[in-house]
Amino acid sequence: MKVYLNGTFVERSHATVSVFDHGLLYGDGVFEGIRSYDGLVFKLREHVDRLFESAHTIMLKIPLSKLQLIEAVKQSLRVNRLTDAYIRLVVTRGEGDLGLDPRKCVQPTVFIIADRIELYPKQLYERGLKLITVATQRNVPEALNPQIKSLNYLNNILAKIEAVNAGFEEAIMLSHSGYVTECTGENLFLVRGRRLLTPPPYIGVLRGITRQAVMDLGNSQRLEVREDLLTRHDLFNAEEVFLTGTAAEIVPVVEIDGRVIGSGRPGPVTKRLQQAFRKLTRDSKHGVKY
Ligand code: PMP
Repeated sequence: MKVYLNGTFVERSHATVSVFDHGLLYGDGVFEGIRSYDGLVFKLREHVDRLFESAHTIMLKIPLSKLQLIEAVKQSLRVNRLTDAYIRLVVTRGEGDLGLDPRKCVQPTVFIIADRIELYPKQLYERGLKLITVATQRNVPEALNPQIKSLNYLNNILAKIEAVNAGFEEAIMLSHSGYVTECTGENLFLVRGRRLLTPPPYIGVLRGITRQAVMDLGNSQRLEVREDLLTRHDLFNAEEVFLTGTAAEIVPVVEIDGRVIGSGRPGPVTKRLQQAFRKLTRDSKHGVKY
């Protein structure tokens, strides 16, 4: 495997960064997780735009243009001869001293890992997932806005640990005021009648690229798509609940905190959206060829 590192491709064993890199010392950096399907990078421009927005907010100047970064992603896939892949695009503050001050970091570190995609078990999609609400609240946007897709994922990792400790694979995180936000690496949706609802970004959720794609699909399937404040009660009494994310795609949820959701099996709206999403990922209008 060859990894793009600061402008060149190096063997995996040589793809290393300094212990003084502030990405490592402080989680000072930004990233994207991207997927390719049949030689098309799904929503690549949207991912690169979001990376630049995250970087802008933390005042990190990415040393490549958007076009150059897109080229580098495409090249990573070609060099590794991958048609279906998971791509990790990372920009850190770079090497500095042991203090926090980002001014000491002269050159950002940029790397791209393009690897074979590790698919989630098929039964997850057939049987659906059981979730638990955890005590760790999602970051308050006023403190650390979840829109910044930063290298500091401890908030999410703490929630994941709680879920795993309780014997569950995934956690629902609530906001400071007790509203539903998202899971540790996926957005949440519920279906009730013709309505498709998901929490609004201001409550503290990442504006997921899969989330937006699913909202667009919902609109074209004549669902009433809305961002709305949601409580656990709303989730418990939904007809269907599902998660969305680049790696997981669309995952049905069949139980939350011991309450059965709907029929207890993946529902018809979720299944229709999954089919439409599969088509979308292979559509050249939504992906960049390489
Ligand atoms: N929420 C969080 C916290 C995430 O980390 C991710 C994906 N990395 C998502 C939601 C889903 O976003 P996307 O659909 O853009 O992958």
